[in-house]
Amino acid sequence: MTAALEAFRTEVRGWLEANAPHGLRGTRMGRFDGYWGGRRGKPTADEAVWLERMLSRGFTAPMWPKEYGGAGLSKDEALVLDQELIRLAMPPAAVGFGLTMLGPTLLHFGNAEQKAEHLPAIVDNRVRWSQGYSEPGAGSDLASLQMKAVQEGDEFVVTGQKIWTSHADKSDWIFCLVRTDPSAKKQQGISFLLIDLQSRGVSSRPISLISGSSPFCEVFMDEVRVPARNLVGKLNEGWTIAKALLGFERTMIGDAIGGQMAQAESLLLASAREQYGVAEGEPLDALSRDAIARIAMDERAFGLVRERIRQTTESGKTPGPESSITKAYGADLKQRRYELAMRLLGPEAVGWEGAPFDQTGLDTGREWLRARANSIEGGSSEIQLNVIAQHVLGLPK
Ligand SMILES: Cc1cc2nc3c(=O)[nH]c(=O)nc-3n(C[C@H](O)[C@H](O)[C@H](O)COP(=O)(O)OP(=O)(O)OC[C@H]3O[C@@H](n4cnc5c(N)ncnc54)[C@H](O)[C@@H]3O)c2cc1C
Repeated sequence: MTAALEAFRTEVRGWLEANAPHGLRGTRMGRFDGYWGGRRGKPTADEAVWLERMLSRGFTAPMWPKEYGGAGLSKDEALVLDQELIRLAMPPAAVGFGLTMLGPTLLHFGNAEQKAEHLPAIVDNRVRWSQGYSEPGAGSDLASLQMKAVQEGDEFVVTGQKIWTSHADKSDWIFCLVRTDPSAKKQQGISFLLIDLQSRGVSSRPISLISGSSPFCEVFMDEVRVPARNLVGKLNEGWTIAKALLGFERTMIGDAIGGQMAQAESLLLASAREQYGVAEGEPLDALSRDAIARIAMDERAFGLVRERIRQTTESGKTPGPESSITKAYGADLKQRRYELAMRLLGPEAVGWEGAPFDQTGLDTGREWLRARANSIEGGSSEIQLNVIAQHVLGLPK
């Protein structure tokens, strides 16, 4: 580590010690468990203070240019900041699809006006974004999407339906893939459009799940008039942008899973000790030790692969097919992590609420169920394996 980076660490550590609200220290869960913001967001007093202080340093978007409210940090400086946040177990001050998906995409493909309008509102968490990609007939085969946008003067008129739109009911804007040329080859007639969810003709409906809590919504557009200036990139050339955004999304999912490594290991150890009544400091039985060590080794290897990708990806480049590697492997790892936790906790993990299931059991059961979605969201694992086979290994279709 260079002297300059060491000096940066010392400075950031001192600043965090002085500014990180005590009520939030030690509460970090994952990299994406924090305040999601938006016009309807209701931060706690600590979250509001934390957001304001982090914003004053540009630390909610550490690598974004200062002109949009970021801190303009290098990759290595951003890593140091992250390590220091983890040291205090601070949750991120701002999280959302704006910071992780749309923002990086706009930095590459947005024009000057779009960047100036949207990036500062993402950085300070004022506007919450949702993702309008999937449709009833377009999931894995995303390019089959049918939501149509017809240009009329300086507006697009948008009609159609999106599905599985996470948190659309809590969001302010949506980035959508729309069909602007129905006669072209399917990938070539798609455009990337930014739509205010308060526009006339937009409605959304929550989709219930058996678990009782669901982020999913259906979003309907009925002749919604969208200013043509909200088109990102060129007309009918949205597919390239769509794929770049998926790269950011897949990296985000892999990072979120990798970022839970330390908690995962201690959860597994705690679960085994609790289930078998083994005191702290006493050795666990050989079978549990073996199973936990296998996962721990895979977690470490996953961390190293992510670090190698981080180091070799040029700063500011859109992620390539390697994002499919972290996404597919991360999803598998998280599912194995929670399969093991369920086995170790036994019946304590199958409760739904209240005594006699303690918090560890409840959280484990819920996370085990949630992990099923990791191999579907952001593109299913089968699709990631196809991408890796064709675009990383060069195998035929
Ligand atoms: C938690 C979660 C959050 C989500 N949030 C959003 C969101 O905010 N916005 C949004 O737009 N979408 C969202 N989605 C939708 C997600 O992107 C799709 O579910 C996903 O792309 C799969 O599409 P599908 O559900 O239509 O399944 P299908 O495409 O119908 O696939 C069904 C099965 O067939 C397999 N399959 C399909 N094609 C192939 C092939 N060529 N080769 C091998 N196997 C194949 C798939 O792997 C899968 O197992 C979310 C999904 C989940 C689970």
